[in-house]
Amino acid sequence: MAEKICVAVRVRPSISEESPSGTFWKIEDNRISLHKLHCTPISGLSYAFDHVFDESCSNSKVYELLTKDVIHAAVDGFNGTAFAYGQTSSGKTFTMNGSLNDPGIIHRAVNDVFQKIQMISDREFLIRVSYMEIYNEEINDLFAVENQKLPIHESLERGIFVVGLREEIVNNAEQVIKLLESGEVTFPTVNRHFGETNMNARSSRSHTIFRMVIESKGIDTGSGDYSSSDAIRVSVLNLVDLAGSERIAKTGAGGVRLKEGKYINKSLMVLGNVINKLSNGAKQRAHIPYRDSKLTRILQTALGENAKTSIICTVAPEEVHVEETKGTLQFASRAKRITNCAQVNEILTDAALLKRQQLEIEDLRRKLQILKLRNDMLKYELEREKLEMELEEERRSHKEREQCIRDQQLKIENLSSLVSDGDRSSSQDSMKESPKDECNDFKTPCFKETSNSAFVAKRSNYSELPDFKLPDFSPVPDSFSNVADEDTWFKMNKGYIADLDSLQTTPARKVQSFPPQDITPLHCPDCSNDNYKLELQNLKTQLELVIKEKDELQRKHEEEVQINSRLMGEISELKQELDLSNNSLESSKQRYGNLEREFQKLKDERDSLLQTVSESSKNITFLTDQKENILKDLNCEVQRRKDLEAEIKQFSVAFASRQRSLASIHGEFKSKIEKLRAENLVGY
Ligand code: ADP
Ligand code: MG
Repeated sequence: MAEKICVAVRVRPSISEESPSGTFWKIEDNRISLHKLHCTPISGLSYAFDHVFDESCSNSKVYELLTKDVIHAAVDGFNGTAFAYGQTSSGKTFTMNGSLNDPGIIHRAVNDVFQKIQMISDREFLIRVSYMEIYNEEINDLFAVENQKLPIHESLERGIFVVGLREEIVNNAEQVIKLLESGEVTFPTVNRHFGETNMNARSSRSHTIFRMVIESKGIDTGSGDYSSSDAIRVSVLNLVDLAGSERIAKTGAGGVRLKEGKYINKSLMVLGNVINKLSNGAKQRAHIPYRDSKLTRILQTALGENAKTSIICTVAPEEVHVEETKGTLQFASRAKRITNCAQVNEILTDAALLKRQQLEIEDLRRKLQILKLRNDMLKYELEREKLEMELEEERRSHKEREQCIRDQQLKIENLSSLVSDGDRSSSQDSMKESPKDECNDFKTPCFKETSNSAFVAKRSNYSELPDFKLPDFSPVPDSFSNVADEDTWFKMNKGYIADLDSLQTTPARKVQSFPPQDITPLHCPDCSNDNYKLELQNLKTQLELVIKEKDELQRKHEEEVQINSRLMGEISELKQELDLSNNSLESSKQRYGNLEREFQKLKDERDSLLQTVSESSKNITFLTDQKENILKDLNCEVQRRKDLEAEIKQFSVAFASRQRSLASIHGEFKSKIEKLRAENLVGY
């Protein structure tokens, strides 16, 4: 249950003789306010707390009203802290340590703890005490001079603890008081740092923390109820006397004192910050700067966490301290706003642990199951996204492939048409060329250009004839039989037998007969020989040319054949590629189908998981409802038990009174009987 920190203000008796000249602090019930001299209160300077103790109040009263509950709660297993805050000489040490006639809170607490545990018969206790000071942000052990500058550690088992701090196991209050005296009195200058300032001759420049660790365990009654017998309660009780909260300027400090002042101010400032943050409410408790000072770190469990806390803010009534007093009261107001949530600190023994842990394990298992389901769902979701992406990729590449195939088909078509065109054109060419070839075969180079160089053997000399005019006809003899023999033909055409008639039908060549007289020169023997030679030469060159041309044509033909076969190869390659693409298209279609099936499967699985999750959450709410109902029942039972107890009490009271009245009636009767007997006797 959340509860507020208990805050009280204590005003010490005035030390100065001077009477106030302007203002004074007035205390009415639990309110303290600054008043002008003749009773008018100053607005905004009135503060209310759980308690306001005036100068006449004793430590005993302060303890009873402010700290006793905290101490008793500590015995019952709650962490507790009581600390004194205020400027130097305002009465912190007086409140915590007290005087010979009026022992302070620490002494009273120690006595009270031991008294209380004496009265608890069903639990056994173990008490450990330690005493430390924080001086210049260093922790020193007040029970052991050699333990200086101790570090703070934190562990799961022990929480926050000071490493190497001496902890004394104690059995009675006297033992603790002795130990305290050894810390305070035996080595006051060694064990605790006191400094002289303008403020107070015995001013403490350090924070001191007296700590009691109270462990208790139920004495086994054999009832089998683990919470009462098996659990070990451990609570920590801190009683803190803080160093003076005054501002440095006022202490007139310098050098070492100034340094001390800085540290004190720093740790008190951090304490103030922590209290500020804690008082801002649960929502703004995101980061509480406990770690900023050793003091707050050590008191962490006592500040705003699991502890019952009481703060006594001591103030000085003198007019000269008005500002400091205001500061202290403001600090107290902030502290008042903090709520703590204290719980019994139980450590369980094996048997109880087992019982409790089984339930916890069950709960954790259920949570784990839900987490696992969530995790699986996430995994499936991821897998599904991945598959979707792959699917998309596959679709794209499929499209690209289709495009590629279309391009290739187009190419093939183009090539096919090219090839068929080529075939056609080559056949046309060959068809075109063959008569040309033939023509060329039969055409002499000079055949067309000049009729002089006619191809007939016995004609070439005509050109040489002076009077011989060649008009526009070719000097072809009347009959070839006279002028060309078959051998020459054969040589000329490499065995090709020409249809000589076709030569005569060549349009450009008109066959004309020459008058016989004109050919007389042919019959000149020398001339004919020369001419023949010349003709032969001519024919040879022609033959060579024709052979060359033929070779050229043959080469061209071969080239065309090559191109053709190459194109055929390309076509078949493209066809193969097309087949391949078709195959991969088919396989990607299959994959696509598979992916879609998997996707569907995952979707189904996800749906079933979602259903399971919703069912589990329903179960959880059902269980929570059940738990709440059980808790309600339990509370009812507890209430009933209390009522019954009260009834029993009433009954026993009534019974006692009845008994008493019966006894008195009995007495009366007795006396009456005796009286009667006496009367009877007298009568007789
Ligand atoms: P602090 O620890 O705050 O510096 P102290 O406790 O040392 O102050 O008090 C300063 C002086 O005032 C001491 O001499 C102390 O005995 C005296 N004093 C403080 N409070 C009271 C009180 N309520 N009744 C009587 N004397 C007090
Ligand atoms: Mg002091």
